[in-house]
Amino acid sequence: MKVFKFGGASVQYIDRIKNVATIIDAYAGNQLVVIVSAMGKTTNALEKVAEAFYEGHLDQALQLFEVVKQQHLTTAKYLMVTHYNACYAQLNDFFTEVEWLLHDKPVRDYDYYYDQIVCIGELLSTCIVSHYLNEMDIANTWLDVRDIIRTDNNFRDAVVDWKRTGEAAQSAIQFNQASIYLTQGFIGATDDNESTTLGREGSDYTAAIFAHLLGAEDLTIWKDVEGVMNADPKAFPAAQILPELSFEEVIEMAYYGAQVIHPKTIKPLQNKGIALKVKCFLDSSLPGTTIANKHLKNLPPIYVIKQKQVLIHLHSQDFSFVGEEPMIALYQIFKELKIKPNLIQTGAISLDLCMDDRTDKVEQFAAAASVLFDVQLERDLKLLTIRHPTDAIATELTAGKHLLLQQKTPTTLQVLYRG
Ligand code: ASP
Ligand code: MG
Repeated sequence: MKVFKFGGASVQYIDRIKNVATIIDAYAGNQLVVIVSAMGKTTNALEKVAEAFYEGHLDQALQLFEVVKQQHLTTAKYLMVTHYNACYAQLNDFFTEVEWLLHDKPVRDYDYYYDQIVCIGELLSTCIVSHYLNEMDIANTWLDVRDIIRTDNNFRDAVVDWKRTGEAAQSAIQFNQASIYLTQGFIGATDDNESTTLGREGSDYTAAIFAHLLGAEDLTIWKDVEGVMNADPKAFPAAQILPELSFEEVIEMAYYGAQVIHPKTIKPLQNKGIALKVKCFLDSSLPGTTIANKHLKNLPPIYVIKQKQVLIHLHSQDFSFVGEEPMIALYQIFKELKIKPNLIQTGAISLDLCMDDRTDKVEQFAAAASVLFDVQLERDLKLLTIRHPTDAIATELTAGKHLLLQQKTPTTLQVLYRG
């Protein structure tokens, strides 16, 4: 069997939903589990609903939700005739679920409400896609993934219970009864049937969970790009497509900030040797990128720039060494603030670290570290990472930049600069 994942952009417009159906139809002879995200920017729109609700602005929350409702109803109307009523009824049940909640007063924490509201995005989109497939005579079984993906109650970043999820997946998905199952990415539920989410952009991860648990032959993530590229084509027009990659390379790329695939996606696939394909939904004949458990030689330079970085310079207060005690204390602070440095360089009595400039966290970090060190901050920096660097590309990408920190291993060059 195969797992497909279609992201928000692939179901953003009427034509694109039709295109998704065409792709699924082309593979209809296979056993398929299809994971679909919320349409377009629906998740962002629902986040606004959750914020308005939590701040006590009921009218505003209802108005914002009305926009989401109308978008989905209009889409359904354009796509269906015979199956419209069935689709409409199911959409309405989801709308009602949210509207009931919005009429309550918030008594629990924000993250809980966030998940109850935001999870509707994928339920609505999959409802429309499933009924549209029926309209096109493509038989499919719609599943509420909240009956399968079991999680803890760490709302907005829930942790999957693999064992229970595996059992639920095995019993819900039986290929002798149907050959196409359609369900949601990104969402799950607790034992008390409260909805949870797995973190933004989490649908890739859901797809990997299904591929792992059901022993898929491969997972295909359908995107609006030709495949994985060696740089962001918006920033570097000369970026080129990478036909083949290893899991190791992709996990490194994601770690250094490339927004290719959700980083959590890789482990479940790598552990079972399930190939990951990235293909273009705009032209499914293009070969795309295949990522597998193999060692690749001669990869071209792959580069990523992380924006909005801050350099934190720590200096010993009394000339004592930066030994294990202060390091333990620093990592304790990272852990408490749930942050991580993107680059660390230690000297005898000083230490430089670079991290994402999330203002509140950085201020808290600086305050906590100032007990141990003199702290200086430099903001507005960029962190360039080049995998498989050549001298030529390193020179080209750093020309004319004011460099503040550099680190180099045989496979990776990192440069922090201003500008
Ligand atoms: N719809 C969710 C988001 O936009 C999850 C996903 O698309 O992967 O973050
Ligand atoms: Mg998305």
